[in-house]
Amino acid sequence: MTNRPDLPPEIARRRTFAIISHPDAGKTTLTEKFLLFGGAIQMAGQVRAKGEARRTRSDFMQMEKDRGISVSASAMSFDFKNFRFNLVDTPGHSDFSEDTYRTLTAVDAAVMVIDGAKGVESQTRKLFEVCRLRDLPILTFCNKMDRESRDTFEIIDEIQENLAIDVTPASWPIGVGRDFIGCYDLLHDRLELIDKADRNKVADSIRLDGLDDPRMADHIPADLLEKLREEVEMARELLPALNPQSVLEGHMTPIWFGSAINSFGVRELMEGIGEYGPEPQVQKASPRDIAPEEPKVAGFVFKVQANMDPKHRDRVAFVRLASGHFERGMKLTHVRSKKVMAISSPVLFLAADRELAEEAWAGDIIGIPNHGQLRIGDTLTEGEAIRATGIPSFAPELLQQVRAGDPMKAKHLEKALMQFAEEGAAKVFKPMIGSGFIVGVVGALQFEVLASRIEMEYGLPVNFSPSQFTSARWVAGDKAAVEKFVNVNKQHIATDNDDDLVYLTRLQWDIDRIGRDYPDVKLTATKEMM
Ligand code: GDP
Repeated sequence: MTNRPDLPPEIARRRTFAIISHPDAGKTTLTEKFLLFGGAIQMAGQVRAKGEARRTRSDFMQMEKDRGISVSASAMSFDFKNFRFNLVDTPGHSDFSEDTYRTLTAVDAAVMVIDGAKGVESQTRKLFEVCRLRDLPILTFCNKMDRESRDTFEIIDEIQENLAIDVTPASWPIGVGRDFIGCYDLLHDRLELIDKADRNKVADSIRLDGLDDPRMADHIPADLLEKLREEVEMARELLPALNPQSVLEGHMTPIWFGSAINSFGVRELMEGIGEYGPEPQVQKASPRDIAPEEPKVAGFVFKVQANMDPKHRDRVAFVRLASGHFERGMKLTHVRSKKVMAISSPVLFLAADRELAEEAWAGDIIGIPNHGQLRIGDTLTEGEAIRATGIPSFAPELLQQVRAGDPMKAKHLEKALMQFAEEGAAKVFKPMIGSGFIVGVVGALQFEVLASRIEMEYGLPVNFSPSQFTSARWVAGDKAAVEKFVNVNKQHIATDNDDDLVYLTRLQWDIDRIGRDYPDVKLTATKEMM
């Protein structure tokens, strides 16, 4: 069952992945079916609230209030066959691309869900590009085959052309729309038929001796059968065969066709994730990489969520374990501060309920409640000074000035802003000259969410107003050159919440000019978090 027989079995059976898709393609429905087949929920409908919650802004805020739901859904663990799946949720709204990016640093693979009628949509494409940066293996689920969909070859072509990845059919749909009756499983020569009577049930598969098996005619109307045989023959001729290595390298994606709402195709997809999806992978780190089979525990924070319980100012840091076998109560070194932390009440996200984690293995996600010590990008180890890398922070694309409604509350506001900065919800810049703060985000909705959270969680009304700046760049380079540069450009310089220097401007021209005038100063749009 594994390409890595050298891994401890508990690690080898783990599959940690995220779902990428365009809104409405069926991510929530598919998640729900995963949980259903993983035995984590009893019936469909239990995670619905979340999918619906992000449709409108007010509902989104409601979800934020009801953080219990959104948090437990941030990472979900469930078992399927011999596998332990860890499904990490990517934020649905396109405004949160940075958060999404970091989420994708915590997984080993992605399931790409596309709508069979719509093909590759904008958000899918963006998320795909992020996966590609890390060569993440991608498994594709073409959903909503029970509706009028595009021609199967056309869908596959579109993915190949649009995303420049080889596509190999793992299953082939039989009929389309109202006539969709199921799929032929090309990897196992099985017939999978849809159970139209019960949406939560999956019909047993029918084993066949290849496409010419006469028993096919017992289940498939003659016209559909003829078409199926023709198409599969053509597909086998024209499309590449499954190459597991190529899938693991992110150059090929197998595609399954199905209908999540009818529970159809989901089981085969899950089997596919187990069979062709990667085990926990090596984590890039400095000064050396971390291998999952190392006996000592190491993990890194990829997400922080604060104020989950408004009564307590606690936060949960989501940690992806990169190596080892973690047990509750373990003492781990927080590498940035060199302090030792006893991890006494880690949380494991078993579907709908948060549960105390007694143990966890490389590949798992655990939540660590803390009072702000743990930040995005932080590494925890059993003592070794090693830092996970590749968890970047992006320069915000929108900047606004922020002031407290009551000037006496400026200190209070600073505290609130710093907290959101540490959560990764916004960038906060303190200009060298003048007062107040400049807040930077990637999407405009985040300003509203922030204002509303500051008011709700800190009782502070705030005003956002346009800033004179529109771009921010981190300043790096030779120390003396940076000092000289800062002295000359004080009106443009600020510090971020880690006290790193930032250059603010409204002109791309300025950025280009500095490149020429100060060859030893580097302005960058991303920064490694640590
Ligand atoms: P998300 O936005 O990607 O999470 O999508 P949802 O799972 O919320 O699904 C969007 C809509 O498509 C909902 O109304 C679902 O009921 C519907 N839907 C999901 N899967 C299927 C499917 O297989 N067939 C059909 N016909 N509708 C589906």
